[in-house]
Amino acid sequence: MAALVTGGNRGIGLAIAREFQAAGEPVVITHRGSCPDELFGVACDVTDPAQVEEAFDEAEAELGPITTVVCNAGFTDDQLLLRMDETQFTRVLDTNLTGAYRVAKRGVRSMLRQHRGRLVFISSVVALRGEAGQANYAASKAGLIGMARSLARELGSRGITANVVAPGLISTDMTEGLSDARAQQIRDGIPLGRSGEPAEVAATVRWLASDEAGYITGAVVPVDGGAGMGY
Ligand code: NDP
Repeated sequence: MAALVTGGNRGIGLAIAREFQAAGEPVVITHRGSCPDELFGVACDVTDPAQVEEAFDEAEAELGPITTVVCNAGFTDDQLLLRMDETQFTRVLDTNLTGAYRVAKRGVRSMLRQHRGRLVFISSVVALRGEAGQANYAASKAGLIGMARSLARELGSRGITANVVAPGLISTDMTEGLSDARAQQIRDGIPLGRSGEPAEVAATVRWLASDEAGYITGAVVPVDGGAGMGY
């Protein structure tokens, strides 16, 4: 029984993979270039169904059945609606939402055979709050919630849970480009008054994947310092 984390070569995905590894659980990451030395990685661009299939085949040949899948790969391409072209919209959806569908679909095939599975989707606080300039990204992250809850209903009787983790502002490459003023403005809206660390997201993901969380499915778990309260 092993875990697969998409986009595990850096940021939140890397922290999740390290969390599994530190707990002694077999883990494989997907990457699109190079893999950190201490981890087992397989190449995969989640926009390509054939690469998703090959990545699972390669991972399972090495580690056995994958019964935990963390759909973490994602990116932003922010723009105000009237300036957002169709490609900007569809590319974000194709990676963040359709990519997660591709990965979950292949992962569930193995989970069904094992009568056990954990799907964890990395969404965002903006899924429910919305954010100016992020219509594409917020739509993709909100879509993950609908997908996870549908899968929770579809697969619950087969011992498979599907949950969502919704991080707030987390210090990674994705948020490094924010101006100081914008980062401060976001922090002002966070009750805990600071950005979060990838490890704080990772701990929640590993817990949702554990046996202790076996009666939790269809949940949206915030890791956002309180930023999403009330949404
Ligand atoms: P990073 O930009 O640090 O990492 C993104 C990861 O996704 C990289 O490994 C990247 O691979 C991978 N990725 C992007 N596109 C693809 C693709 N087409 N196929 C495969 N892998 C891909 O971001 P974070 O670690 O911050 O984000 C991780 C997840 O958490 C994302 O889904 C993001 O939306 C979400 N999130 C992040 C928040 C934050 O504040 N940081 C807040 C809320 C949610 P590569 O290295 O090859 O580019």
